Amino acid sequence: MAIPEQFIDELVARNEISDVVSSYVTLTRKGGNLWGLCPFHSEKTPSFSVSADKQIYHCFGCGKGGGVISFIMEIENLPFPDAVRLLAQRAGLAMPETGENEGYRRRRERLLALNKEAARYFHRQLQSPQGAAGAAYLFEKRKLSRGTVTRFGLGMAPDSWDSLINAMAELGYDKRDLLDAGLAVDSKKGRIYDRFRNRVMFPIIDVRGDVIGFGGRVLDDGTPKYLNSPDTSVYNKSRNLFALNIAKKSRLGRMILTEGYMDTISLHQAGFDCAVASLGTALTAEHAQLLARYTKEAVIAYDGDGAGVAAAQRAIPILERTGLKVKVLRMAGAKDPDEYIKSYGREAFARLLDQSENHIEYRLRQVRQRYDLADDAQKVEFLREAVGVVASLHSAVEREIYGGRMAAEAGVAPEAMALEVKKELSRRLRQEKKKQERRDLTPAAQLQPKSRGLRYENMRSARAEEGVIRLLLLDPALFAQTGELEATQFSAPVLGKIYGLLQERRRTGLSTQLASLASALEPEEMSLAALVLDQPEDLSRSGQALHDYIETIRTEALRRAEGDSPGALLAAREKYRETKGYGG
Ligand SMILES: [Zn+2]
Repeated sequence: MAIPEQFIDELVARNEISDVVSSYVTLTRKGGNLWGLCPFHSEKTPSFSVSADKQIYHCFGCGKGGGVISFIMEIENLPFPDAVRLLAQRAGLAMPETGENEGYRRRRERLLALNKEAARYFHRQLQSPQGAAGAAYLFEKRKLSRGTVTRFGLGMAPDSWDSLINAMAELGYDKRDLLDAGLAVDSKKGRIYDRFRNRVMFPIIDVRGDVIGFGGRVLDDGTPKYLNSPDTSVYNKSRNLFALNIAKKSRLGRMILTEGYMDTISLHQAGFDCAVASLGTALTAEHAQLLARYTKEAVIAYDGDGAGVAAAQRAIPILERTGLKVKVLRMAGAKDPDEYIKSYGREAFARLLDQSENHIEYRLRQVRQRYDLADDAQKVEFLREAVGVVASLHSAVEREIYGGRMAAEAGVAPEAMALEVKKELSRRLRQEKKKQERRDLTPAAQLQPKSRGLRYENMRSARAEEGVIRLLLLDPALFAQTGELEATQFSAPVLGKIYGLLQERRRTGLSTQLASLASALEPEEMSLAALVLDQPEDLSRSGQALHDYIETIRTEALRRAEGDSPGALLAAREKYRETKGYGG
């Protein structure tokens, strides 16, 4: 292990889980725990809980759970060492510089330095004959100013198989560096060649100002139109937004979300320095969380074509879930923001921005467009669908306002509409209740781990194994009473693994809190451990409970091992009872 375990223990102790989670999720106290809307799955009522006593989080909906390090790994999508680094920074702890750890950091810095040199190289090409086509595209065709091209560090990858490779080799970067940075591609014959050829280059810069990847656009009608860096150890496309490094400083009070680099750049050139774009991928929950850190309002300005509308509809709930106020730009007479500004000017676009519909209006208009309200049959269908949208709104005020508006459009009484919405709401409530009842009625199904790979073969033993782990996590003094219970006697491999890890840590004097197991357990295993720890346990008679659990585990282990000779099993049970002095 690269990072010393003692440091991990200190790190966990210095990062109180409810503080850390609170900076991502709004938590409210209910009973002994804190509750909020789960950041890892979509929900409307909170099933995400944080326990300050146990220092864990656990979602009863999607089953995700763990300690503070696991939380950061999950929500920031970071590997273990990076999550530790982030938490160390947060708590003001200096990272211990172990060899491996230091090597990892140096590798990362080298790739970032290479990316920066590559960006400089591409930018310089715009002034050379090799880059003339790119300069013509940016300055003449897209009408970008020198200032804009410089601000975004745009460039041109020459029409060549190895010009970048050669230029970077002169600076001391080798094959491995270029492949790791995603700037070169392996030909399988041991040769490498430039990934980006004859393309206009858009460096992707993160909020810290580091060049983490590139997007390249063809100059003609070639395909693919856009080619992006692959995910590398410094670049993850679902976690970065193009131009956020600039937009985060905007004073316009909102962020504009566009579909592409060019839209974002032309908005910036027109003075809307709050535009960003997701990169060669649909908007993800991570993108939304990233945006929500810098703004309260997001305006979706996607293309007006079918694909753009579908993408906007997908993006709305993702953005809404983070608590962002979501609006949708309604563009008529242009296919995208770039074209709109070129045709109608920046003032017109500013007006458009102020008039942008909130997401409810947008969704209702999408419904409205599909029906001919002069036709009675279609009117009925329209109302049915509109009722569905209105019933899905969280606030009664919103339901009344938009319900009334839809009623007026269809020419029916608002009261009639309100009644339909009410019916739909109670139908949904009944459905939800039934679903909950079904869940409650099948405890066996609920007792199985969510992850299929971890399923229990022997439920009776697994329950007892869970009990042992829970008791040890809650009260480390009980380690002294585990006797000769061994991980190999556990029926569920995952529970045996957790038990073994805990015993090992206990033996070597390390903390046995769950959060410290973040690097040793897979995410699903950690989630299961958090679920186990989150179950109620009566600690007033923990010694007896532990003994009972152990007895069940031993009995079941013997039953499995000696399934054919029940006499041996019985004898072993009797012997165990005698030695421990507990009656049957
Ligand atoms: Zn969840």
